[in-house]
Amino acid sequence: SLTDRLAGVFKKLRGHGKLSEADIKAAMREVRMALLEADVNYKVAKDFCAKVSERAMGQEVMESLTPAQQVVKIVNEELTALMGGEEAARVQLKSKGQTVLMLCGLQGNGKTTHAAKLAKYYIKQGHHPLLVACDIYRPAAIEQLKVVGGQAGAPVFVLEGEKPPVIAQKALSYARDRGYDIVILDTAGRLQIDDVLMQELVQIKERVEVDETLLVVDAMAGQDAVNVARTFHEKVGIDGIILTKTDGDTRGGAALSVLAVTGKPIKFQGVGEKLDDLEVFHPARMASRILGMGDVLSLIEKAQENADEKLAEETARRMMENKFDMNDMLAQFAQIKKMGGASAMLSMMPGGAGIDPSQVDEKSLARIEAIILSMTPAEREKPEIINPKRKRRIAAGSGTRVEDVNKLLRQFEMMQKMMKQLKKSPKGFARRLSGMM
Ligand code: GDP
Ligand code: MG
Repeated sequence: SLTDRLAGVFKKLRGHGKLSEADIKAAMREVRMALLEADVNYKVAKDFCAKVSERAMGQEVMESLTPAQQVVKIVNEELTALMGGEEAARVQLKSKGQTVLMLCGLQGNGKTTHAAKLAKYYIKQGHHPLLVACDIYRPAAIEQLKVVGGQAGAPVFVLEGEKPPVIAQKALSYARDRGYDIVILDTAGRLQIDDVLMQELVQIKERVEVDETLLVVDAMAGQDAVNVARTFHEKVGIDGIILTKTDGDTRGGAALSVLAVTGKPIKFQGVGEKLDDLEVFHPARMASRILGMGDVLSLIEKAQENADEKLAEETARRMMENKFDMNDMLAQFAQIKKMGGASAMLSMMPGGAGIDPSQVDEKSLARIEAIILSMTPAEREKPEIINPKRKRRIAAGSGTRVEDVNKLLRQFEMMQKMMKQLKKSPKGFARRLSGMM
């Protein structure tokens, strides 16, 4: 897989100590091969490697004590940029009136499923979406939308004997009358791109004001998905992409190329067949996932910027080797103080995903620190020996409650579990991690 291939390239680089231009060139050739094998668009792969090379040949890398790590960091940043940068691209909802979302794409790519997933997603946020059956050519399609709409808890607007543009228009006035604030159009797809399909989508857009045309594409189709996206964008105009079946996509080619080719960002990704299997697409997370490292990289990076480089490297190494204990956690807190912002730090740690960053204020950080300080060295190394009696002692010593001690132990256990998984299977780890966020 791409993850394994890249890991191989970086491992080789690491063996080199100081890097020469030739080392970097050789590494970039391999990165490019790895990207092409992952079904990344040729030009995208070429431009990507040119950009990374240029940066990697710069002083910051050549003169760094950890050049390989710097290259990994650059690759991570450029992968993120390739998919849209740090900020996730989101669907903009109107604050007043109806936001109309039109889902389009080839047959079987996941339009109907994702219409319902979106409905459920927005219902959870307190919205009132209306699903609209504009795929009228196959009776089964309407039935399917009714079923998944029912599961999502969203009503389905059906109008027999009318063409999709009229259906969309009537659905919109229905939504207006009944106070639905989001109208999701499920349109028909074909097995191949054809003019009739494109025309119908254009006609819908002529009839109703579509706020976002979202192209639903199957990640598993790789470069084909990207070509489909290009054509839809040229003929219909799209505002964003829903990349589906990323759970089955082992290559990542579509995710990496589609923005560069169409200029339109991925806004959501489908990660399974269930209606809850929908995630906002975060380029940085996808990049980390491709690199197979959770967000350990940004952790290293932040630490390098602000704190003792050696300690950061040591921590990252111990995390990878699954030796991270409460002593490390304590040492980290000292760094965190220097780095200003516990929540920023925790959100970057692999296990930090188990701790809600918004709930971490400096006070609770001080409390955690006090709890760890009240543990004996043996307890810090092996928290599993902490029995109820020890818990009471620790709580008393730190001026906290046994509940606080329990909570910390649970969080720590979760961190360790995740790190174990990181070691065993970077991919599975990333999946769990992204599932938690
Ligand atoms: P449409 O023809 O574009 O409306 O596609 P459907 O919504 O009917 O989906 C086609 C198939 O893909 C169905 O069996 C879905 O369950 C499946 N599917 C859709 N999205 C995903 C996803 O994100 N992951 C997986 N594994 N399957 C999906
Ligand atoms: Mg359908």
